[in-house]
Amino acid sequence: MIIVMKLGADESQVQETIQKIKDLGFNTHLSKGENRTIIGVIGDVSSIDESDVERLRATPYIEEVVRVSKPYKLVSRDFNKEDTIINVDGIEIGGKKIVVMAGPCTVESKDQIINIAREVKNSGATILRGGAFKPRTSPKDFQGLGKEGLEFLAAAKEETGLPIVTEVMDTRDVKLVSEYADILQVGTRNMQNYALLKELGKYDKPVLLKRGMWATLKEFLSAAEYILAGGNNNVMLCERGIRTFSDFTRNTLDLSIVPVLKKESHLPVIVDPSHGTGRRDIVKSMTLAAIACGADGVTIEAHTDPQKAISDADQTISTLDLHELMGEIKYISRMFGREI
Ligand code: PEP
Ligand code: MN
Repeated sequence: MIIVMKLGADESQVQETIQKIKDLGFNTHLSKGENRTIIGVIGDVSSIDESDVERLRATPYIEEVVRVSKPYKLVSRDFNKEDTIINVDGIEIGGKKIVVMAGPCTVESKDQIINIAREVKNSGATILRGGAFKPRTSPKDFQGLGKEGLEFLAAAKEETGLPIVTEVMDTRDVKLVSEYADILQVGTRNMQNYALLKELGKYDKPVLLKRGMWATLKEFLSAAEYILAGGNNNVMLCERGIRTFSDFTRNTLDLSIVPVLKKESHLPVIVDPSHGTGRRDIVKSMTLAAIACGADGVTIEAHTDPQKAISDADQTISTLDLHELMGEIKYISRMFGREI
């Protein structure tokens, strides 16, 4: 069970609530975020009488009391029955519309990102992706343009009006990256970087949280819980493929998690068919499959000259193909009662 304190509840009211729970015979766990204080009740709460729950609910400084027994509470459907809709520059993510984020793996130059952004815009996709801080497997690989890359992304936004999603890897960079990004991406390798997740909880900037390539459902949702516990509700969950024995793709795109995430959580679900496969020849089929199984959107690596992309060339589709794919996305979205 969790007890969400009203905004502005003071320390004595928090302590009073903790005492009430102790009197019922339970221990508590206190989570104090920048904007939200939550008291978690530890143990099997089914024995707590409904009248006691009602009494807590009626307390003026308590916002909400929810019986949730899962380790992730704020992200769970039990906590919020309604789908969370995240508004990014007027684009609703998690509603009826399917959102398509597209762009290169890495920002390579100002011209490159502006040219790609124009094509992304022409294709009908509505959010531009591109990494300025890149998490590369080898330190010898190109690490991204950093701040300069963010400035190039800003120029591409200025030119096209497309909002930006870009990765942040380090707590020290969150402030800087959030000045440029409309959505902060947490990459697969950082899904359990708890310091980073906690830092993101302090902002209200939308976060695209990518599933760790090793992560179970519980680990994935618990990572999102860190961000919500800090007070930031604007989190999207992104399936981007997991490590399996399968050897014909870079990762195994675990589309079966999509309907399960939608059932377990109220947060929007995005699928990354590019990292999820590592193969441009199957990006299109996996994109359509993602929409068919209930994803709220996709993030696709696209480039005007994919063969020449500095990173992830093998999985990057051409902007021409993106254009064509958008038509099919439109078609399949309609079949499943969605729009684009
Ligand atoms: C990316 O989106 O460019 C990226 C590095 O993704 P992931 O963290 O899923 O590998
Ligand atoms: Mn990439």
